[in-house]
Amino acid sequence: MRLLTADHVLPVSSPPIEDGGVLVSEGRILAVGSAADLRQDHPDVPEDRFAGSAILPGFVNCHSHLELTVLRGLLDDLDHDFASWLIRLTQLRAETLSDEDIADSALAGALEGLKAGVTCFGDIGRWGLAGFEALKSTGLRGVLFQETEFSPENATAESDLAALLEKIGTLREAETEKVKVGISPHSPYTVSPALFERLAEASREKGLKVTIHAAESDAEQELLTGRGGFFAKIFEQYGVRWTPPGKRSIEYLSSAGILDTTPLLAHCTKADENEIRLIAESGSKIAHCPKSNAKFGHGVAPLSRFLVSGIEVGLGTDSMVSNNLCDMLEEARFAALAARIASASDRFIQPSEALKLATLGGAEALGLAGETGSLEPGKAADLIAVSLREVSRLPVNDVESALVFASGAGDVEMTMVAGEVLYRDGECPGADADRLRARMNEIGSRLKEAL
Ligand SMILES: [Zn+2]
Repeated sequence: MRLLTADHVLPVSSPPIEDGGVLVSEGRILAVGSAADLRQDHPDVPEDRFAGSAILPGFVNCHSHLELTVLRGLLDDLDHDFASWLIRLTQLRAETLSDEDIADSALAGALEGLKAGVTCFGDIGRWGLAGFEALKSTGLRGVLFQETEFSPENATAESDLAALLEKIGTLREAETEKVKVGISPHSPYTVSPALFERLAEASREKGLKVTIHAAESDAEQELLTGRGGFFAKIFEQYGVRWTPPGKRSIEYLSSAGILDTTPLLAHCTKADENEIRLIAESGSKIAHCPKSNAKFGHGVAPLSRFLVSGIEVGLGTDSMVSNNLCDMLEEARFAALAARIASASDRFIQPSEALKLATLGGAEALGLAGETGSLEPGKAADLIAVSLREVSRLPVNDVESALVFASGAGDVEMTMVAGEVLYRDGECPGADADRLRARMNEIGSRLKEAL
């Protein structure tokens, strides 16, 4: 048993506690309260004091692609054209990177997350095993969503399903208490209607969580509603047999039956009021990725509309190609600021709400709120300490504001998952930072040559 205390403890599910503490035993939270009370009740328990800091639940990054970390910054000159970016990225990933490269890329991403206070990832992997192993070997919690291949034609639905289920079978055998497996039909335009139907069945039968990129861009909405656009040209060019459903993205997913699986929908930047209603009514969730949306110029997702509609929303950094940082405090800050710019008439996103999005909201979005996302007795001890000692953070008039509007990943000083300290004061015990640094540089030069 150990007692962690700090100037501020933020359970997130209840108001912040000044001079608070968290009692941890066997990987779980036993009690949360004032440091003085906890000391008095448990006088023999060793105390770990984080002076001038805040203790809060670990961040839940509910939409990432850890395996793409090594592509950071590589295609930034193509960003104005999302469709060409996606095609170029897929080529580079398939042609230039070996399995070992992908594995190290995912590992680097997982360690970057740990240092930034992420304790749980909702990670999507085309090479699912890489992200899965990275989460397991670093001690993180998460759901690895195995992604489908490019498969928009009905004719291949059976073989597409068989290929996916084979990968899922292998991953499931290696599941742990902390790391689970789900499926990710990539998007409404890369998965056939027949495959969506089969995947909805498989999700129900096997209890697999589902995540889908949805309503992300104008090009996607154009293609699906039959108004042409870039994706339509590509489909034509490659002779893909695919008929536009004549519906908007979320409407289409609803009619394809996949919303019945209450999937986690990534982006939803272009969701209109009817689509938001469909998401809310189906109990589907949203991975809000404000920085990725902005970087591609996709626009500002209607965050306050999502929240007003009662949808469970978490934050995702998306991949390091499209962000380029895994910094959940920056993501929360950007979410609040972008929402305020986009719609001054809607409700202002408060720092407390932004912080909830980055923690409990993500846990809810991943269906893991019973286990993680807030500091409550009985939940796993997934928590972090963030320093507020820098003069530039002071004075701390409002701790939620100090964290969301004045802090960043570099202020995280300790990350604990299930009671185990996985990062402290710049070090992840057991991680070979020098080897990874060399590998990132080496793979990076190879990718540059391949461009
Ligand atoms: Zn994504």
